[in-house]
Amino acid sequence: MQAMQPMKDIPPRIFEIWDAPVDIETCGNLITHHKLQCSTCDEKFETEVQFAIHIDKCLQNAERDTHYQIHMHANRLLMFQHRVALFCGASHQDRFLQCGLCKENFENKETIRKHIRICARDNASYGAFIRKTRPLFSNMLSSYEQLGLLFQRYVMDDHIVDIRNRRRSVRLAKADSSPVGRHLFFDEISEHFIEQYRDYVFAICGLIDDAFIRYLKKKESESEAADVIYSLPKKRKRRADGESVDSDSEEDEDDDSEEEIEQPSTSSGRGRKRTTRR
Ligand SMILES: [Zn+2]
Ligand SMILES: [Zn+2]
Repeated sequence: MQAMQPMKDIPPRIFEIWDAPVDIETCGNLITHHKLQCSTCDEKFETEVQFAIHIDKCLQNAERDTHYQIHMHANRLLMFQHRVALFCGASHQDRFLQCGLCKENFENKETIRKHIRICARDNASYGAFIRKTRPLFSNMLSSYEQLGLLFQRYVMDDHIVDIRNRRRSVRLAKADSSPVGRHLFFDEISEHFIEQYRDYVFAICGLIDDAFIRYLKKKESESEAADVIYSLPKKRKRRADGESVDSDSEEDEDDDSEEEIEQPSTSSGRGRKRTTRR
């Protein structure tokens, strides 16, 4: 094992991808904006296929270091969000305020979201939708969490220093008003990323609702939603089943999760989301 390389700054592109708000309206375009980037040669690609062909060669002997990993997870976030958008036809519709199941119309995003959760209960299309999209959402959650963990290795990065300072001042202010301080091994950085992950889980729940609303509309207009998840080139298809095209050495991302992502494990900020099967 070689000596650890000193951690340089978090690449701005990676942080922006991680920090981008989760939104059904924009999730399909992030890939065009940020592009998929090879961690070895920095070349950028707009499509998964070109990217997959490139990294097949270029990343063959790449060291699986932090630099490699943050690129991999950022690329995954872009790819899986793009696939969500493709799958539910997010960019080709203008009105999303009608429930595709009961045809009722709603005032705004919040009311239709609330409605769809109830209306979709025990609905067969919802079950099918969840089965098909589960790998996308669970990979997004996993990559988001991994990025948070990887960022913590960049101890001297501006973002990290800033987070630490902000949280310290909050902690000091609290300590002033309360005689009982935080306990001794409290780690403000990891707490920050655990909180971010928790917020992300809620955002993904909203994204699932929004995606389902659009998926129903798309099905209506096309009779059958195209199965874009499995439309990768043959060679990739074998490993693309909920797995990134970026790596085959990574741990397997079992699809066996996220039916109920409201209950993630954030206790340590590490490890996979636990779920209870229905
Ligand atoms: Zn390359
Ligand atoms: Zn309805």
